[in-house]
Amino acid sequence: MKTARIIDILPQCYSLFLPPFFKNPIPIESAATCRNCAMLEKPDSHVHAPKFFSAKTKCCTHHPDIPNYLVGALMNSDDPEHETGRQRMLNRIAGKTSISPLGVFRPKKFTLLSRNSNLEYFGRSEFLRCPFHDDEGFCTVMPYWDAVCSTWFCKHDAGEEGWRFWRTLRTYLENLQKILSRYVLLKMDFKPSISGLSIDVSAPLTLQELDDLPPPEPIYRKSWGAWAGNETEFYKQAYTLIRQLSQDEFARIEGIEQKLLLRELEQAYGLLTTTPLPERLKKNPELNIEKISESSYLLSGYSPFDPLKISKRLYDCLDFFDGSLTNQQVIRLCHDQHEVGLPEEILKKLHRFRILIAVGETK
Ligand code: SF4
Ligand code: SF4
Repeated sequence: MKTARIIDILPQCYSLFLPPFFKNPIPIESAATCRNCAMLEKPDSHVHAPKFFSAKTKCCTHHPDIPNYLVGALMNSDDPEHETGRQRMLNRIAGKTSISPLGVFRPKKFTLLSRNSNLEYFGRSEFLRCPFHDDEGFCTVMPYWDAVCSTWFCKHDAGEEGWRFWRTLRTYLENLQKILSRYVLLKMDFKPSISGLSIDVSAPLTLQELDDLPPPEPIYRKSWGAWAGNETEFYKQAYTLIRQLSQDEFARIEGIEQKLLLRELEQAYGLLTTTPLPERLKKNPELNIEKISESSYLLSGYSPFDPLKISKRLYDCLDFFDGSLTNQQVIRLCHDQHEVGLPEEILKKLHRFRILIAVGETK
């Protein structure tokens, strides 16, 4: 199993001040093969496999909320691989839409449309494709994206525990982005009245928001103050400020909430690395089951994007798991009645993918 340190999959500026916990290794999500996207239909795909994503969007039907300092990091990057992303970001800044001293944000129209769309939009809607996604299907701004892009995978080698870990890391990073982008404003002496501190998606769309136009000039100038017209330089300075943060300074400014989120993250990490196998298991009553041939099934437990293919013989054994017998008793039954061997590794995988769940667990 390949691993990487958590800190190494995040934007590099975080490595200077995040707590030592982030030096821990995590397994690489080997099934989420982004270069050869695992969610696109392949010639040998199962006919009834879960709905595929579009090659034009992959999972990038998301618009990142990129905090000021990461916009600056992108602008400072001299990596030729970022050239397209940098140009797109410059165009976005020049267009003055959904940008503020806090960062470059998901337009309100995008949020309203995605929130009010049937979930099938995800991974398929070209209208809701990220503006930083290129025609070859790759990200042009990686890793200067947002907490969602850093932590979203369609498949998790550790199943539910993997999903839970990344989801908890996402919450940690979202709060981190909020704190650091505001820290920048404080350091740069911005007035508290700047727009963008609260993006109220319940307020009606303005004409400009509807037509993807910049806000009226007086409103724009009010939010940017003396930096209006010099936004790119502002973002670069934001990045410089964050790069200068020390661990001590970060500990001083992060606040109670961030410290508590770290505890949650440590807990999720503990479960990811050492989930104990419950002594009694039962078949997940909410399992999504597809028969794909006479000899095999596709089962989705914890996520519709990450089904597990199992043999009919193993499938037939699942009914023995009703929560009343210990795993050892079921293993003997499977062996005696179906001649199926169930090593602990298989049981662990069935549990991690929530094909089998603990007694008392709700899914
Ligand atoms: S995470 Fe996204 S790009 Fe990567 S394999 Fe999954 S759907 Fe494809
Ligand atoms: S920023 Fe990159 S990874 Fe994130 S949604 Fe856009 S193209 Fe995809």
